[in-house]
This record gives sequence, structure tokens and C-alpha cells, in this order.
Amino acid sequence: MTKMPSTDEILTKDAHLIQSFANLDALKQADARTAIVGADGVHVIDSEGNRLLDGIGGLWCVNVGHKRREIIDAITEQLETLDYYSTFYNFTHPKAAALAAKVASLAPGNLNRVHFGNSGSVANDSAVRMLHHYFNRLGKPKKKKVLSRHGAYHGSTHLAMAMTTPAYSDGWDTAADGLVHHLMEPCHYHRTDPEMTEAEFLDVLIEDARKAIHDIGPENIACFIAEPIQGAGGVLVAPDGYNKAMRELTAENEIKYIADEVVTAFGRLGAMFASQDVFGMTPDIITTAKGLTSGYQPLSATIIDDEIYEVISEPGAMFLHGMTYSGHPAAAAAALANIEIMEREDIPGRVKTTGKQFETGLKGLIDLDIVGDVRGSHFMIGLEFVRDKATRTPFEADANVGMAVAQHCQKRGLVARALGNSLILSPTLVMTPEQIDVVVGTVGESIRATMADLG
Ligand code: PLP
Repeated sequence: MTKMPSTDEILTKDAHLIQSFANLDALKQADARTAIVGADGVHVIDSEGNRLLDGIGGLWCVNVGHKRREIIDAITEQLETLDYYSTFYNFTHPKAAALAAKVASLAPGNLNRVHFGNSGSVANDSAVRMLHHYFNRLGKPKKKKVLSRHGAYHGSTHLAMAMTTPAYSDGWDTAADGLVHHLMEPCHYHRTDPEMTEAEFLDVLIEDARKAIHDIGPENIACFIAEPIQGAGGVLVAPDGYNKAMRELTAENEIKYIADEVVTAFGRLGAMFASQDVFGMTPDIITTAKGLTSGYQPLSATIIDDEIYEVISEPGAMFLHGMTYSGHPAAAAAALANIEIMEREDIPGRVKTTGKQFETGLKGLIDLDIVGDVRGSHFMIGLEFVRDKATRTPFEADANVGMAVAQHCQKRGLVARALGNSLILSPTLVMTPEQIDVVVGTVGESIRATMADLG
């Protein structure tokens, strides 16, 4: 076993590492960075030896918990048998084949064909590339535009970022200018006119989408991409019936529906896939990543329905797309072992109870003065802090109240994620009821401590 380097040793070398979605200037102060050196179960361990509850499940991904022996063994065994081979040309290997069959069996409806990638961003880019090709083959080459939504996060490759809410690329370019249209802001009920009912708000959103389709012209639109619940945009939940109504509207206009289930699949909302089981609709494509391997290996999947597959695999068609690591044997082995654990332990079933406890506990914090909204479902929750609840007056954009609360959480042994004036929690799915109470209690205490700091 190699000796663990000290915090100083790690952070000196870390000056060469470019962190993602980070204020790089602020990170030039070494003490602004946290080195995580170990993990097990629902905890991570930092380089100072602190054991912290992992309230963000790595990055919404360590669904079955850290250090699961079965997954580690499956990866090791696979590397000893076949370290690497591609799924290019006519090649395949047993684990990629078995995983494709397994994913197809879990996915709803006729979503039976799976292309693997190595990140959620790539899964989403792949979905759009496939659909552009699909419409070319159907003799509809003008169908290229993508409808997305404000508040969305679809990744940070050039196309995925163009589909993400513009706030995420402030000061940066997106490659696909003119290709993507973002539907109206916000899709989240809390932020709208307090006089409006949820049903009225749903009508407004659908009308906005209908108008966009009319203005752009359905003959120019390839697809609509949407997370069942928007995650990195701040855990934004559209009004009841939205996903289904958008499914109907897009189908009426021959617009393919891509459900981005990078976060919501594999148990986080109490189902293997949320589209059908939670929201009652089957899209044309599901993209997923994160919980597919619980983060033990980088892997994503773009799952397409039989009808799209028939068109892109007809005689004369060539599938000109793929990544060196598509369906990597070790990643596929990790995913199979991960899904095996989820099924054996009925993790989605358990989440129906424990996730509800988590959701209800955190929603109980709404009584605190600065908590303007607690939203989300099961193990996907966001808390928004506001200056004045009665008038819905937000904190200034740069107040960073989320970071203040997250720092109080970390001091108290819980990792939570700050997002502007919000706090996001997306833990592992295997916390006990007692651990859930600890998380809820810690978040509550941290909010009270922040309120005291604010005076
Ligand atoms: N889609 C959603 C809904 C996500 O939350 C993310 C990442 O957080 C992505 C796509 C991008 O995934 P990746 O970071 O693996 O490229």
C-alpha cells in the first residue's frame, strides 16, 4: 500500500490541476481546496482525516454507496480477463453485450438499442447526432434544431453546453449557436406569479412550447431534450403533468423526445428509469450515465427506440459515430455489478421509503426564515434561500448564501453542494433512516448558523 501524501503535498501538486466549474483564481489559495482521499459506504474521508457524510453522492452518482466490494472485484476480474477492446467495426465483447441487453430490458417501451459513451455530455451529443442522421435518412435534412429549456444542464461538451441553460456558459461560447432554442424561464412553479395555480402555470409552459414550435416550424426541429427533474439548474421541478404534456406535443409535431436521465435513472427517484415509472411517459431516447456504474467507472448510455434504430441501420446506412472507450470492458463490468446490487437489494424500492423520509425531512426546514423553497423528490433535493420569504425577495445574486450554508455543513461533517443562493443534496441511496435524520439535522443547524452570521 502506498503511503497517503500529506495535505500540503497533495495541494502543492494540485496547483497543476484545473478543477471543473470552479473559480480558478479563488482556488489559487490552497486552503480553498478539499482533497478527498478515501471513501466507504455513505462517507468520504478528507486529507485531514475528517470523515464526512457524502451528501452529494460524489456528483449525483455514487448511488449504491462507496467501496462496494462486488463492483471492485468485477472491475478487477474484467481487467484480468480482457483489459480493453473496442466496440468499433464488427467487434464486441461479452460485458458490453450483456450490459446492452440488461439496459434494454430495464428501459421502458421499445427503447431496446444502446450506444455507450463515457460521459453524460457525450450521451447527449450522441443522441442529437443520431437524430440528425435519422432525419437525413428520412429525407428531412432540415429537421436539425433542438428545443431545450432554461434551467437545463446537459453537459459541457460544445453541443451539450449549447443545450444547457445559458447561465452556465456566461462568458464562454457555445458551438451550436442558432441550433438550440431554450424554452421559457422558469419551468419552476415557485419562481412564478404567486397568484397563478400550478395547472395554469402548466398551460403557460405548454403554450410557450407550442408557440416556439410554430415560430421555428416543426419541419426544422429534430428534438426536444429535457431532464425529468432539472438537476444542476437548481433541482427545478416542472408542474405536474409537464413531462407527459410535452411528450404529446412533441409527438404531434414529429419532434423526438430525449429524456436526459443522467441523474434521475438508477434509483434516485425510486425507479430504475423515471420517465415511465415516475412521470408516466416513454420518450424516444433516454440518455443516462452517473448511476449506471454508481461512478465506479466512466460510462454513459444513449438508449434509442426500435423505430429510430430501424432507420439508422437500414441497408446502405453507416453508423459514423463512436468513442474509443464506448462500452469499455471494465466500465461495462462495473455497471453490471452495480445493477446487480440495485436489483438484489431492491434499492429503487427502498428509496421509495428512505428517499421520501429524506424529502419530507428537508421539506420540513421550510419553516426557517431564509428558506424560501425546498423542492425536488426523494434523493434529489434543492433548498433555495431568500432574503424575504413573504415577498419572495431573493438574496443578491452574488450573496452566495448556498456556499455559506455548505461551509457550515462541512464543518459539521456533511458534504453539500452550493449553487448560488441554493443548496443541493443528492446523496448515496443507501443511507439508513438514522443517517438521514443526521443529514436533515445538520442542514437545519447549518442554516440556523448562517442566519446568525447574516445577523
Ligand atoms: N445531464 C445531466 C442531467 C447532468 O446532470 C450531467 C452532469 O451533471 C450531464 C448531463 C453531463 O454528464 P457528464 O458530466 O458525465 O458529462
